[in-house]
Amino acid sequence: MEKSCERAVEIGLPALAFTEHADWALVHKGQHSVDLDGYFDSIERCRARFKGLRILTGVELGEPHWFPGETAKVLAAGPLDQVLGSIHCIRLDGEMLDASQFRDRSGLDFPAAVREYFREVLAMVESGQPFETLAHLDYPKRYWLDGLPAYKEKDYEAEIRAILVAAARTGRVLEVNTTRGDTLCPDITVVRWWREVGGQAVQYGSDAHQPDKVAEGFLVATQMVEAAGFKPARDPVALWRR
Ligand SMILES: [Zn+2]
Repeated sequence: MEKSCERAVEIGLPALAFTEHADWALVHKGQHSVDLDGYFDSIERCRARFKGLRILTGVELGEPHWFPGETAKVLAAGPLDQVLGSIHCIRLDGEMLDASQFRDRSGLDFPAAVREYFREVLAMVESGQPFETLAHLDYPKRYWLDGLPAYKEKDYEAEIRAILVAAARTGRVLEVNTTRGDTLCPDITVVRWWREVGGQAVQYGSDAHQPDKVAEGFLVATQMVEAAGFKPARDPVALWRR
C-alpha cells in the first residue's frame, strides 16, 4: 500500500482508494477475506506518511448476495468511503467457477456461461446488498476464449441493459475499470447505454493489484466516459455525473 501511495505521488495523483477484496473461502479456496482491522492500521500508516495524498478506504464485496451475513460483518467493522459489489463466479453443476477459468473448462458452453454471469450480476444488483458501485460489469471478457468470435456488447445487450436498468433504479454508480491499463471494463457502448437508461454517475478503478499499475489507463477511460456524455468532476474524488 505504501508503494502504491509512492507511485500515486510520483504520477501526480491527488487521491487514491484501496478497495480491498472481501471474498470468501467457499468461493476461492484458500482465500482469506480482508482483515479490516489490519487494513485500517495500514491506511492510517499511509495517511501519516503521505500527508498530501487523499487516501480513501473501501472494499470490493465479491458475490455479496451469496454471503449476506459475512458481508454485514465486514461492513460493520468500520465506515468505508467506497463499497463496490462485483461478481467473479457463477454456479455451474453445483460448484462455483470464476469467469477467469471459463476458458480452461473443456466442453463449457462459453456464451451460455457469460449469460449466466450477467444473470448473477443482475441478481446481485437486485438483492438489496449495501454496495454503491457496480464493479467491472463485463469481467468475463478479460478472459475470452481464443477461437471464439470476439466479445461484443451487442450480443449480450438484453442482459446488460437489464443490469443497467436495475442499477440505475437502485441508485448505483457504474465503475469503469481499466484492468491495469489493459481493457476498459465496461467500454463506451455500455457507458452510453448507462446514460440512456438514466444512470447518474461513473467512477474509475484501475484494479491495480500492484503499485506500478495505479491509475493505469485512466487517460483513455476518462476520455471515453466524457465522450459517452458524463461530465468531469472538479473534485478528484467525486463521481462523474451526467
Ligand atoms: Zn474484482
